[in-house]
Amino acid sequence: MVQLPIYLDNHATTRCDPRVVAAMLPYFTEKYGNAASINHVFGTEAQEAVARARRQVAELIGASDSEIIFTSGATESNNLALKGVARMYRHKGNHLITVATEHKAVLDPCKRLAHEGYEVTILPVDEWGLLDPQQVAEAIRPQTILVSVMLANNEIGTLQPLADIGRICRERGVWLHTDAAQAVGKIPVHVDQLQVDLLSLSGHKIYGPKGVGALYLRKRDRRVRVEPQIDGGGQESGLRSGTLPVPLIVGLGEACRLCRELMPEESQRIRELRDRLWLGLRNGVDGIRLNGHPTHRLPNNLNVSFAGVKGEALLLAMKDVAVSTGSACTTARLGPSHVLKAIGLDDEQADASVRFGLGRFNTEAEIDWVIAHVIETVRQLRRHATMWAEKSPGVPVG
Ligand SMILES: *Cc1c(COP(=O)(O)O)cnc(C)c1O
Repeated sequence: MVQLPIYLDNHATTRCDPRVVAAMLPYFTEKYGNAASINHVFGTEAQEAVARARRQVAELIGASDSEIIFTSGATESNNLALKGVARMYRHKGNHLITVATEHKAVLDPCKRLAHEGYEVTILPVDEWGLLDPQQVAEAIRPQTILVSVMLANNEIGTLQPLADIGRICRERGVWLHTDAAQAVGKIPVHVDQLQVDLLSLSGHKIYGPKGVGALYLRKRDRRVRVEPQIDGGGQESGLRSGTLPVPLIVGLGEACRLCRELMPEESQRIRELRDRLWLGLRNGVDGIRLNGHPTHRLPNNLNVSFAGVKGEALLLAMKDVAVSTGSACTTARLGPSHVLKAIGLDDEQADASVRFGLGRFNTEAEIDWVIAHVIETVRQLRRHATMWAEKSPGVPVG
């Protein structure tokens, strides 16, 4: 039997893989040196561990070791990329381009830069959440310094045509940043194939620890520079000061190593589970709609709306299934998700949306349990809504 509750919220965060925890543990207790104190063995041990982790991160995305900067997560990486490039190249221009469906960790730094006098163009997406590369080409001006387009969306899973956008940016001499927090470790990501200059990733989205991430900064063929946003001891080539959290970095490295090793088999297995979930739900209830692109999407994402059922109500009625509605990343903000609005959903459809995020530890038995439970709950909620409508004809249903 399945163990309850079932975790299907892997876009919000993932369980730290026990192998990652095992790799980290010695660096809390025996190997606790400061990676900068290399005049003794405690320090060199830590320094070597950091170097190994840097290689593991680089290998997962086709980068060189020296192109990886450790940060506290994708939020910090995005801030360093956007503010760092904007401030470093202020003499060249003041224009940035991004997309309506980006994570708040991209949109909010852009908003702050706009307050500081930068101009920001926010491009729309189509009904699937796709950005048309031609729109990027048309939005680029002589003053444009940076384009930021996420690789995979955290709500609807849509994958952007980044290689095409990369080609355009390169031709036009504009830096390209991508927030790849949801894509890295789930689909093959290669910085040269995508032609990106900066890339953000996060430990806790790939079965690693929370509080650590990395920023890829292109160096090999053309060198992108960023103005540091945190000054101090000069760690990470002076681009991100602060004593390195060696255990977390070791965990991030091991998480990357595991993703690389497991990805071919794992992504296929998870995709099959996701398709099983979608078919099961679609065959079990009518009035269900898929949000996001039907094929050009993350293998672990399913975002659906059930007509006439509020996502919140569904979540409340299904205590044993951990999923999310709207966006868990912006729980502090009320109102329908900006991503679902950007793909044209009205408030009611957006309110009816549920995001399933599958992961490494989900089983087929769990998915079958969830299918049965969701179908049952949706039917029940709809029945109640009809009964309520019959009893009090003056009250609108929804
Ligand atoms: C989770 C996430 C972030 C934030 O990452 P943290 O490491 O939690 O700061 C940024 N962007 C996307 C697309 C995400 O999914």
